[in-house]
Amino acid sequence: MWSKKVRQIKVIFDKEIVEEQAKRYDSFYLYDERKIVDSIRRLKQHFPNIEFLYSIKCNSNPYVINSVFAQGLGADAASAGEVRKAVAAGQKKEKIYYSAAGKSMEDIESTMESAVLIADSIEEIKRIQFAAKHRNLVVEIGIRINPNFSFYKNEGMPSKFGIDEEEALAFLRENRFPNVRVTGIHVHLRSQELNTELLARYYENVLELARRVQKVTDVSLDYVNMGAGMGIPYAVKDRALNLKELGQSVEAAVARFREEFPGIRAMIETGRHVVGKAGVYVTKVMDRKVSHAKTYIILKNTLNGFIRPSLACLVERYWQGQQSPEGSEPLFTGTDAFQFLTLRERKPAERVDLVGNLCTATDIIAENLVMPRLECGDVVVITNAGAYAAVLSPVQFSTQIRPIELFLNEDGNVVEESFTPKLEESLSGQEP
Ligand SMILES: *Cc1c(COP(=O)(O)O)cnc(C)c1O
Repeated sequence: MWSKKVRQIKVIFDKEIVEEQAKRYDSFYLYDERKIVDSIRRLKQHFPNIEFLYSIKCNSNPYVINSVFAQGLGADAASAGEVRKAVAAGQKKEKIYYSAAGKSMEDIESTMESAVLIADSIEEIKRIQFAAKHRNLVVEIGIRINPNFSFYKNEGMPSKFGIDEEEALAFLRENRFPNVRVTGIHVHLRSQELNTELLARYYENVLELARRVQKVTDVSLDYVNMGAGMGIPYAVKDRALNLKELGQSVEAAVARFREEFPGIRAMIETGRHVVGKAGVYVTKVMDRKVSHAKTYIILKNTLNGFIRPSLACLVERYWQGQQSPEGSEPLFTGTDAFQFLTLRERKPAERVDLVGNLCTATDIIAENLVMPRLECGDVVVITNAGAYAAVLSPVQFSTQIRPIELFLNEDGNVVEESFTPKLEESLSGQEP
């Protein structure tokens, strides 16, 4: 049984490279460019007429961004900072879409000439009008719509994102803002969906909305950004999306749509589908002890290095005995979303709690896990660490040394980039 597990490890990451890097670092992320390139190749293969935007917020490591953009993906930016990252990585304005709730005037002014703004409210459109008029520009924007359908029902739901469909249509019928021209719509309702049929229906519903928009207003759209949704298998029992089926159905819907509205661009956003499986988190055993018959394995930078498994543990503790709690992305997917692997199969296997080195008893990353015997210095590898991993970690807590981010490029070389701002910079008290 154990040898089967070891073979599985081989598929997930390159053991020699992990071992080599673990000699230099006690905790690190390792991203594999070959896996990134591979997942993008599959998307392009099954969705040849869809443009993909990479959601930078899921992993904004510069090597990762550059690699993804080199494959031709555009940028889905969730902040002015992400717009700047996309610009720094060489993206053109036409391929950077900045969609976020609560943009400030400064956010708008600093990005309106380097990205396509997706307005999230009527208030925001007013602010864009003000900024555009001031600069004597007519800006082309998209609007995010909160549609009259959800993933599961044919009715709208309250949302902090976007403009309710009725209000959006009313606005578009008589756009009162001479310096703003709406050329696209954006919808995004949920992430991490693994039901192929539900997703296909969702994308069709968005195209139907784009049809309504153009039928009941004079607006002619250049693009429809259908948002994200494509999930990846986290738990061992999860079944991956059927990309071939999904691709066929979305492509057919887009083709029908384009017969009516020739030349319109259809976009899908994705973060985790591109990089989620392309990263592992590696940590080392700092100490081990037995206390009142419980064995603790103390690892480096867990809650503060890769928070998601620790949060899952916390949710499970509060949820004890009840049914599986619902996911809440990007913080919580499920209680079994990560695997803990070792490089060696030292015997005897033992039941342990994996905990971190922070000064709080809440710093638990896995409870009651059967692992091969772990000694100080041994390596533990955690899977599914490519998306919403490094970017979510509360690295400021307790002034610890942060995990480094390593990028294994297609040529087989490991290059590195630490978290920003670096510890030294935050210590000097200067704004980054
Ligand atoms: C977070 C987010 C995404 C990315 O979702 P994934 O599940 O990582 O693909 C896409 N679009 C919007 C608007 C988002 O907020």
